[in-house]
Amino acid sequence: MRAEARIDLDAIRDNIAAIRARVGSAAVMSVVKSNAYGHGMVPCARAARAGGATWLGTAVVEEALALRAAGDTGRVLTWLWAPGDAFEDAVRADVDISVSGAWALREVVAAARAAERPARVHLKADTGLGRNGCTPADWPALVDAALKAEADGSVEVVGLWSHFACADEPGHPSVPAQLDEFVAMLAHAEGRGVTPEVRHMANSPATLLLPDTHFDLVRVGLAGYGLSPVPEVGGPADFGLRPAMTLAANLAGVKRVPAGHGVSYGHAWIAPRDTNLALIPTGYADGIPRHASNVGPVQVAGRRRTIAGRVAMDQFVVDLGDDEASAGDEAILFGPGDRGEPTAEDWAVAIGTISYEIVTRIGARVPRVHTGTGAS
Ligand SMILES: *Cc1c(COP(=O)(O)O)cnc(C)c1O
Repeated sequence: MRAEARIDLDAIRDNIAAIRARVGSAAVMSVVKSNAYGHGMVPCARAARAGGATWLGTAVVEEALALRAAGDTGRVLTWLWAPGDAFEDAVRADVDISVSGAWALREVVAAARAAERPARVHLKADTGLGRNGCTPADWPALVDAALKAEADGSVEVVGLWSHFACADEPGHPSVPAQLDEFVAMLAHAEGRGVTPEVRHMANSPATLLLPDTHFDLVRVGLAGYGLSPVPEVGGPADFGLRPAMTLAANLAGVKRVPAGHGVSYGHAWIAPRDTNLALIPTGYADGIPRHASNVGPVQVAGRRRTIAGRVAMDQFVVDLGDDEASAGDEAILFGPGDRGEPTAEDWAVAIGTISYEIVTRIGARVPRVHTGTGAS
């Protein structure tokens, strides 16, 4: 083993079950986009289903079709579409499609006609995120066009939904403003005759902190993988969650160098004393952020240490001081944190990002090794 990401599928199953228990009668969608935030999509999807996720969410249609190819037959919603995308494949594969505007509705209607079956559509409202979604100004026209397509038998409007900008910032004024806008846009659509099966708005932070936002369905990504979306409010354990990913590597070498020896490109670290250096065979090609140079935490030889010098494409170095280690010994870059190892959140803090990015960016060269529920 050079490096591997170990994924505890039982943790994912249990995290989804814990979230289900929190949200009462709302259903749970496990968001498995981007290779399940780097955790490996298909096994994670199975674990989430085992934990009670009646929905899966993907950003792009290739992800949804891969779930179908792997045998998933439950509800799947896909929300990020571009003109010319595989709408017809989605309709044939029984994938729910998000529609944010007129062009998408036109493509869905054409796809439904070609597939000779109605498309299931969720109309997406931009209640203030300012990203994807239909603005309040354009909403009445989109709702009416969707109702017309429903009357023609080409679509079923099964969902009305939106997405928060700042649910991870408790007390942010945009949260109640977006909620009010969503309620108004729901009222408009339902007043015109839309009868949605699910209204949904909550992502992980809203699911954990804002019960008023749960509606009929919550969409959880990060929390399902056991990381806290609101680390300043609480860590995973405070929400009954357990981090599922452990990133480990075996040392590719250990050597003694004299004081003054430079390490890695640019000599951004110079040994302040005679010291032992351990070589970790992962780099930015594997998703280890180059910004972690001189700051990233790694557990080696039973203790937490710091990266010495620049992270290179395939490798980086850790200073062990006078502690001993050998080639082949295991280094833990991050894990659940209960054996003293750093967490993905620690890495996020060290380099000024969020734990979402730390786990999602782990590269394709790092094998995912799944254990527990759904592992094959
Ligand atoms: C990624 C995503 C989510 C999940 O967000 P988390 O904060 O990881 O729970 C939910 N909804 C949409 C639209 C998303 O793009």
